[in-house]
Amino acid sequence: MPRRTAATLATSGEVLRLIRSGEAVTRADLGRVTGLSRPAVQLRVAELIERGLVVERADAPSTGGRPPVRLEFNAAGGVVLVAALGASRTRVAVCDLAGRELAGRDFAIDVEQGPDVVLPLLLDTWEDLLGDRPREDVKGVGMGVPATVEFARGRTESARVMASWTGVLIPPIVRERFPVPVLVDNDVNVLAIGEHRGVYPDLDDLMFVKVSTRIGAGVIAGGGILRGALGAAGEIGHIPVRDGGGVLCRCGNVDCVDSVASGTALLRELRTAGKDVKTIADVTALVRAGDAETMAMVREAGRRIGEVLAGAVNILNPSVVVLGGDVAEAFGPLVSSIREVVYRRSTALATRRLRIEPSRMGWGAGISGCAVMVLDSVLSPDAVDESLDLRPS
Ligand SMILES: [Zn+2]
Repeated sequence: MPRRTAATLATSGEVLRLIRSGEAVTRADLGRVTGLSRPAVQLRVAELIERGLVVERADAPSTGGRPPVRLEFNAAGGVVLVAALGASRTRVAVCDLAGRELAGRDFAIDVEQGPDVVLPLLLDTWEDLLGDRPREDVKGVGMGVPATVEFARGRTESARVMASWTGVLIPPIVRERFPVPVLVDNDVNVLAIGEHRGVYPDLDDLMFVKVSTRIGAGVIAGGGILRGALGAAGEIGHIPVRDGGGVLCRCGNVDCVDSVASGTALLRELRTAGKDVKTIADVTALVRAGDAETMAMVREAGRRIGEVLAGAVNILNPSVVVLGGDVAEAFGPLVSSIREVVYRRSTALATRRLRIEPSRMGWGAGISGCAVMVLDSVLSPDAVDESLDLRPS
């Protein structure tokens, strides 16, 4: 979206952006930054106050002269509904307009039960969490789902872990209950957005790699999420590795990194080797106990992931690669082999300042990423201007 300059007349939406970002905190600031006349500033601020998006705060009187009234973005002026769906656990929450969670609930649900079961549960939970709050307060809905998502339509594709969700158009179903903008993205993109805004707001280029049951990545490039033409950017799980041994991947190709180095692949290989492992937690226990065979397999998985990441680092030149997901979080040896291979195999310039860090927000990045995604959309200058135009007069 082109950023408006002072040369074009700043709209109310742009004025809100300036107040929200802290670039302007008084009417005088707004006049200076936008070049708008005093009455024009007045009109736009009045509109935003009436809509509950901006509040005035009078500073304590200082000596000499009347203090200017400060303008603040009103984070309490509405809420957004968010849900981070994982393969086996889901968090549903209501957040304020600053993205702070006001109320939330965790579910251990199997998303494979399908949209007919899961979506009504989300809708009912949001209703419940909203309580007596007027439904007009709901400004938008943001969701992360463990599937590739055609972002513009909110349509799930080739679901990684939830076949019953393939081809589901989620927004119309949610809008039947909450008639507001509904944004749906894949789970790794929302993790990337959450970790970026929460931990690395000053870095413009970040790659979040989730190593869990599946392997996927979310890419922040130039300060924003990189979705590609339809939303499939960052699907590193289906990049093939060398010498993978000819493992057939669920996508139909052979030796995808997902099919040879994900949590699922590790469990399969360990079982083949005669280990009694049912869950990732069982593998973690073997790693902690220092089981040599398990450690070797985990290191090998890290090496394969590192090989694919080295290529991605060469293309994207991120400042930081964040490793998240339960496998990456639990397995030290996996992370060290990933680091080793990425530093060895990426170009010198791409790795000169590259940091490879564990996720600091962990699973919490999901909810916060969903909130940021929907708030950046519904509070964007264009969206605010449009909603002001559509207001009944
Ligand atoms: Zn594949």
